[in-house]
Amino acid sequence: QVNRSTVVKAYMELKAEGLVEARVGSGTVVLPSPARDGVQEKTYVPPLRWNQLESRRAVKSNEQTISNILSVFEKERVISFASGVASEDSYDLELFKKIQTQLLEKYREKIFMPTPVEGCTELKHTIKSYLQQNGINAGVRQIMVTSGSQQSIEFFARLLIEPGDVVLVEEPTYIGAIQAFESYEARIVSIPMDEEGIRLDVLENCLVKYRPKFLYTQPTFHNPTGLTMSMNRRKELLRLAYYYNVPVMEDNPYGELYYEGEKLPALKSLDTNDYVIYVSSFSKTISFSLRVGFVVAGENIINRFTRFKQITDIQTNTHSQYLIHEFIAQGHLKGHLENLRRINKMKRDMMAAQLQRGKIEDMKIYVPGGGYFIWLELPKNIVMSELLKQLGDVGVVIMPGDVFFPKFNVENNYVRLNFSYPKEQDIKNGVEKLIECIVRCSEN
Ligand code: PMP
Repeated sequence: QVNRSTVVKAYMELKAEGLVEARVGSGTVVLPSPARDGVQEKTYVPPLRWNQLESRRAVKSNEQTISNILSVFEKERVISFASGVASEDSYDLELFKKIQTQLLEKYREKIFMPTPVEGCTELKHTIKSYLQQNGINAGVRQIMVTSGSQQSIEFFARLLIEPGDVVLVEEPTYIGAIQAFESYEARIVSIPMDEEGIRLDVLENCLVKYRPKFLYTQPTFHNPTGLTMSMNRRKELLRLAYYYNVPVMEDNPYGELYYEGEKLPALKSLDTNDYVIYVSSFSKTISFSLRVGFVVAGENIINRFTRFKQITDIQTNTHSQYLIHEFIAQGHLKGHLENLRRINKMKRDMMAAQLQRGKIEDMKIYVPGGGYFIWLELPKNIVMSELLKQLGDVGVVIMPGDVFFPKFNVENNYVRLNFSYPKEQDIKNGVEKLIECIVRCSEN
């Protein structure tokens, strides 16, 4: 039994804290606690069904090949032939350390400040002279710096594609371009290639049949096949574009990475009528992680892109822009590229020779004159899902070719192999394992 004085004492304490109140006629009532003030009785709130709220466009963009590739970089003990970046040992860390320090000394607080949306003026001037050396004459107002060339591709898609518009691409083609065009609901029509690049007879038929919005092409060291368009075809392609009034997006991230022969001129440098938008990047030549790419186009288009950029990410990272600018302006690009070409050529030859030594019947090896990839056509009887499973078990990652084909036209016996990123020893071990797995899969 509780003593009455204890009850009275407890009541007095509750009253002092404002938790109870005596009301005439209705006795003593409990008041809402201060912590619950203003809060409604807890009622059941159903879980929000986010997936039912997603826009049609969001649902269309559910491809995640690129994020899968990039996640491999955090995994250890995996041999990756799937990426598209330079190897870690191609960087002169001392040089980058020096430039980083100089950046702070030279630009001081400016490094922490915004740049114009379309890119920092110093870098745009540097890009202008860099382009001039490649036969492309563009004023600084026709150049825009973007966060990687992926962003330029996306802007171009945003600028031109209405749902249902036909976009012509090479078959196969760069997955990031397919994704960007698909996200704007383009109808992608792909055109086969041969040793000289895109097939112009098929292209012309498609230009007549589809009246496409634009053509996306990678004439030089094409990703994923490594093929390069011949000089004649470049000229003829432009003639067709002019004749049928179709704009061309030239994507050229690998042009500097040639391992023999002559460098062919960019379509943009041959274009006398402003039909070509030129997209390139420092991702493959200097560093992927800095995310600096650029686009060359007419001033009206750059103005539109500037609006898109404001909405998307406002500006490309200031630090990255100045780092790239200083690296090139101080004259380091030439030596760096020579070094990259030397290392990559050696790795390409090593990988190609080892694949050839595998003597796999009915396997076609496309050895490129430049760029980052060897393209393989595997024997027809290989089941890709089985090969990928076996490679997974032995810790080797490759890119199955089907991701480079628009969805309605899946080919399954191609593989893209990157030779720039893996170390020599990894190329040796990884190709050995790949050959073993291919042989095992062909026997099944
Ligand atoms: N185009 C092609 C053909 C590519 O291979 C890549 C990168 N894999 C890009 C564009 C995008 O590169 P970034 O955004 O890094 O400049």
